[in-house]
Amino acid sequence: MNALERELTGRFGARVGRGLPLADLTSFQIGGPADLFVTVESADELSAALAAAARMGAPAMCLGAGTNLLISDRGVRGLVVKLGRNFDCCRIDATRVAAGAAMAFGALVETAIERGLAGLEFGEGIPGSVGGGLVMNAGAFGGEMARVVVAVHGVTGVGEIRALSKDEVGFAYRRTNLPAGFVITRADFALEHGDREALRARVAELRARRTARQPRGLPNAGSIFKNPPGAFAGSLLESAGLKGARMGGAAFSDRHANFIVNLGGARAAEVRALIELARNRVRESSGVWLEPEVKFVGEW
Ligand SMILES: Cc1cc2nc3c(=O)[nH]c(=O)nc-3n(C[C@H](O)[C@H](O)[C@H](O)COP(=O)(O)OP(=O)(O)OC[C@H]3O[C@@H](n4cnc5c(N)ncnc54)[C@H](O)[C@@H]3O)c2cc1C
Repeated sequence: MNALERELTGRFGARVGRGLPLADLTSFQIGGPADLFVTVESADELSAALAAAARMGAPAMCLGAGTNLLISDRGVRGLVVKLGRNFDCCRIDATRVAAGAAMAFGALVETAIERGLAGLEFGEGIPGSVGGGLVMNAGAFGGEMARVVVAVHGVTGVGEIRALSKDEVGFAYRRTNLPAGFVITRADFALEHGDREALRARVAELRARRTARQPRGLPNAGSIFKNPPGAFAGSLLESAGLKGARMGGAAFSDRHANFIVNLGGARAAEVRALIELARNRVRESSGVWLEPEVKFVGEW
C-alpha cells in the first residue's frame, strides 16, 4: 500500500479501490484498471482527495459516465475520482437551473422540458453526465452547453473549491480551457420559458433523426473525430473508404462512418490503430487532418 492509498483509505475506507477495472465504467467497454479509484460524495471530500494526490505527486482525473473516452489497455496511473450520488441532483428556481455534475445529461434535458424550460433540447440523446458534457462542451443539432451555462463550480487540482464564470471556463468546439485538474461539481444554467408540448415535439424530432443515423447495439464512444471547419468527419471517412474498416475487435460502423464500434473484446490499442489509419487515409484522400473528439486516457 503506498502513501496515497493509505491516506485515502484512512478517510474513505471501502470507497477506495486498488487496480479497479475501468472498462465497465465506459460506453466503449474498453480499458485497463485505475491504480487507485475513489468515489466522493461532497466538494470537501473531492477537495481532500485531489489535495492528497497533488501533495504526493500522483496524477488525478475525474471519470464521468465514460461515454467519450478511450482508456488505454494498461489503465490509468494515479487516482481516478468518480462523483457519487450526492452530485446527482438538480434545483430549479424560475428559469435558473443548478445541476450536479453527476446527473445524467439526458435526465437534465427531460427535467427542464417537463418544467416547460427551453434551451437544452439539443441534448436529447447525448449520453453522459452533466460534468462530462460541460468539459466536452457537448452539443448537437446546432446547440451546445456553452449557450446555456452561466457558471461552473468545482475543485482545482490542488483541492481549492472555486466557482468559474462562463468566460473562465473558455468554451470552444467540443472542448474547454478549464484550469488543469479542475473537477466540476455543479453548474448553473440560464434557460427560458417555453411551451412544454412544443419542446416535447422538438425532442421527439431530434430523437428520430439521431436514431436514423447512429449505430445501435454495439459499444461505442460516439463520434470519434470532430468535424473539421466546413466539413463532416463522417463524409470524409466514408469517401476515404473507411466505413466498415476493421482492426481486431474494433471497426468503423457500417451505419455511420464517424463511429467506431467494439465488436466484442476490442482492445484500446486496436481502436487507436484504427484511428491513426483513418487519419492518414483521410489526409491522403482529402488533405484534412482529423482531430479526435474521443479522449485518450491513461498510460499508452
Ligand atoms: C452513442 C453516443 C452518442 C453521442 N452523441 C454525442 C453528441 O451528439 N454530441 C456530443 O457532444 N457528444 C456526444 N457523445 C459523446 C459524449 O456522450 C459526450 O462527450 C458527453 O458529454 C461525455 O460525458 P461523460 O460524463 O460520459 O464524460 P466522460 O467520457 O466520462 O469524460 C469526458 C472528459 O470529461 C472529463 N470529466 C468528466 N466529468 C468531469 C467532471 N465532473 N469534472 C471535470 N472533468 C470531467 C473526463 O476526465 C474526460 O476528460 C456521444 C457518445 C455516445 C456513446
